[in-house]
Amino acid sequence: MPQLVQITMPNPQRPPAIEELHVLWITAGLGCDGDTVSITAATQPSLEDLVLGLIPGIPKVHFHNPVLAYENGNEFLDFCYRAAEGRLDPFVLVVEGSIPNEKNKTEGYWAAFGTDKTTGQPIPTCDWIDRIAPNAWAVMAAGTCATYGGIHAMEGNPTGCMGLPDYLGWEWKSKTDIPIVCVPGCPVQPDNYMETLLYLLRQAAGTAPMIPLDELLRPTWLFGQTVHEGCDRGGRYEQAEFADEYGSPLCIVKLGCWGPVVQCNVGKRGWMNGVGGCANVGGPCIGCAMPGFPDKFMPFMDEPPGAKLSTSAVSLYGNTVRALRGFTQASMNREPVWRSPDVSLAPTGAP
Ligand code: SF4
Ligand code: SF4
Repeated sequence: MPQLVQITMPNPQRPPAIEELHVLWITAGLGCDGDTVSITAATQPSLEDLVLGLIPGIPKVHFHNPVLAYENGNEFLDFCYRAAEGRLDPFVLVVEGSIPNEKNKTEGYWAAFGTDKTTGQPIPTCDWIDRIAPNAWAVMAAGTCATYGGIHAMEGNPTGCMGLPDYLGWEWKSKTDIPIVCVPGCPVQPDNYMETLLYLLRQAAGTAPMIPLDELLRPTWLFGQTVHEGCDRGGRYEQAEFADEYGSPLCIVKLGCWGPVVQCNVGKRGWMNGVGGCANVGGPCIGCAMPGFPDKFMPFMDEPPGAKLSTSAVSLYGNTVRALRGFTQASMNREPVWRSPDVSLAPTGAP
């Protein structure tokens, strides 16, 4: 019988697997470093797992974040210079904080880091992004400030700041044809960020297809559902049990929860190692992961306009089924009668 021999042909469409990769993180946008602090709480995977090389099948990672790095001053800046000059190849550029509009004034700067070696002048964050992004294997925006502008971009701010897709362009792609990858959240949910980075690392290793992103450049598998759809209090909403004061275990929609319309998986995922998560623990969802945040969700803690209508509609159904479920529950809380010591109640055929 002839032997079957499997021949693996090289795929010219697939780029060679990357064995070693740098992650270069810039925290000098208009931000609070909260996203950096947040990812130190990740567990799926943890930052430690990543940098210690404990995850098989991904490139070795060199992680450069100015808040977490041992290097500081010019020693840290050297990574940025190398990235800008094409000497840090390949790398993922991560931007934290919103990007100011440096063109909306005649002098000064809104955000900068490092000083120009020849002029001695601060180097605006925008200049760094302009120099570094074209050389990146992929570019990520971490947190709502970097993705869509966030708190700093709210109405009336003088900086004219914006998210990275507004700055680079929504159609912008890295030199490897990867769109900007946005992971919003204020701050970013720790595992949402690390899981997305892990996906990109698998893509770099050649074991994952192009990262699936929605029209707002968010990973589809993380932002496809609403908070409400994964909330611990969803059953309370369905039965029209609405809290009118803090500290209640009931649904907090009347206290300002926007969960029914906000795309965020924190209701399901929790915050740290599966524990916590805004509405689950009594904090109304204020839409911090949405492009309309914060302006469109203010004033915080007020009942959302649509909630008045939806809770009125739900109340008719919820109050009725809650009453009916009460009857059923009372019955289910009683043992069947034939378990009684009274033999006359025993099932037919019993001795
Ligand atoms: Fe939905 Fe918010 Fe109520 Fe949870 S607390 S069930 S997310 S409205
Ligand atoms: Fe932000 Fe709401 Fe998600 Fe909490 S549940 S992280 S407030 S979008």
